[in-house]
Amino acid sequence: MSETIKWSFSTDRCVRRCQRQYFLQHVAAWHNARDPVRREAFLLKQVKTLDLWQGSLVHRGIERFVVPALQQNRRIDLDATIAGTQAMAERQFAFSKARRYREEGMSKAKAEDDYCALDGHEKDAGVSPEEFRGVLHTIEQSLRNLASMTELLEEIQRAKQYWPELPLYVEYDIARIEVHIDLLYFRAFGQPTIIDWKVSRSMGGSETDLQTALYAWAMCRHPKWRVERPEDCELIEVQLLTQNVIRHQVTQDIFDRLENRIYRSVNMIQSVRLGRSYSLADLDDYDFAKNPNSCSYCPQGALCRSLADSNGVEMPQAKAETPHRARKDQTYVNAYPQLF
Ligand code: SF4
Repeated sequence: MSETIKWSFSTDRCVRRCQRQYFLQHVAAWHNARDPVRREAFLLKQVKTLDLWQGSLVHRGIERFVVPALQQNRRIDLDATIAGTQAMAERQFAFSKARRYREEGMSKAKAEDDYCALDGHEKDAGVSPEEFRGVLHTIEQSLRNLASMTELLEEIQRAKQYWPELPLYVEYDIARIEVHIDLLYFRAFGQPTIIDWKVSRSMGGSETDLQTALYAWAMCRHPKWRVERPEDCELIEVQLLTQNVIRHQVTQDIFDRLENRIYRSVNMIQSVRLGRSYSLADLDDYDFAKNPNSCSYCPQGALCRSLADSNGVEMPQAKAETPHRARKDQTYVNAYPQLF
């Protein structure tokens, strides 16, 4: 029987960048596996860059301090929101700096909001005091900007109920599509508004319309929400550092293009996985990164190199060349624990 393929735009980008990264990140990674490779792949999957971290802190700050105020129809206490979010950043930073994410028995569930694993701490490069101050500044600027977007906040405050950081799972063909909505509320029955908080100055890529339409598409397909027409979905992208508010149109035509895109991507992933569940012996069937420069930013890099070294497989070099692949019948030695 074929494995269900978990799909998101980020999974699609990962497998296009590097099949081995996809294998480690999306096939091998498992939080409570006995297999040390699977546990290590899961741990490395949690490691964040500073950009991702500051975005997740602002999202969590809005969820913890802004949304409850909206829900209870009371004033948003900006100073308390900033202080609470920055205090969370301090605790997470200390947790990561002490590499507590590597403690025996530690888990995200156990550490709750203190859990954090930063790329700089994992790779020993560290995170400088200036970089950390930059994160605190981004938190404050994002939340102050949000507080001064009075027109948008008035619009949001008209709703009666809110769903922050809502995960949605939708079955589509052999895929399970994963969507994460930053904030959801309804203007009327069957008419959702979906807010997408952005904490980055970089503009979206060429598929921004499809990526944002995915939220609306998932709402329309999910039986719980009873949304029937794409046009009934309102999609608002809020760029918190620049105070830009972009309202995306959703139409059936975009849904058709999106489904076509998902279908092709899932087929491509299926051709890589061949319906197999996890086995380390399959690793050699997954190609190295097409562009070896991807290895410099790869969250699974240490594990990938360790597995390659321990089995005598040559990693791709920074200059483009045909990746060296080990014989298909080579058995991978599960040698990663020696690194600890
Ligand atoms: S280190 Fe390079 S080859 Fe290995 S998984 Fe990462 S991107 Fe792929």
